[in-house]
Amino acid sequence: MDNFLSDENQPIILYVEDNPDNRTLVRRILMAYDFTVLEAGSAAQALEVVRDQVPDLILMDINMPDIDGYTLTSQLKDVPELFNVPIIALTANVMKGDRERSLEAGCDGYIQKPIDVDTLPTQIRRFLSLKR
Ligand code: MN
Repeated sequence: MDNFLSDENQPIILYVEDNPDNRTLVRRILMAYDFTVLEAGSAAQALEVVRDQVPDLILMDINMPDIDGYTLTSQLKDVPELFNVPIIALTANVMKGDRERSLEAGCDGYIQKPIDVDTLPTQIRRFLSLKR
């Protein structure tokens, strides 16, 4: 998996997602908007990536085969270096209670799937500005 080194002015986004097609889509969108994109295909990989580099924001898929996004969010929020890093849940689940569940797990917001190519960069910028 290609994880690109960051330019100082480019916010670093970690995208945790088991589906490679989704990763490709989001990587293309975000790179076109000058974000630096780190990727993890599983919870285990995500934990590895954040050991090397603290991202400015984490996009978190919820449905993953090993550890789900809720559980991983709780684990990441326990890492002191990541305490202030916003975690945004990406969920295809439109069931009632998903928003509440992601907030309970420690997510700072959520974006609904399918991903809207036109609004994703704006949504991410908004979440990044809330952080500051
Ligand atoms: Mn998934």
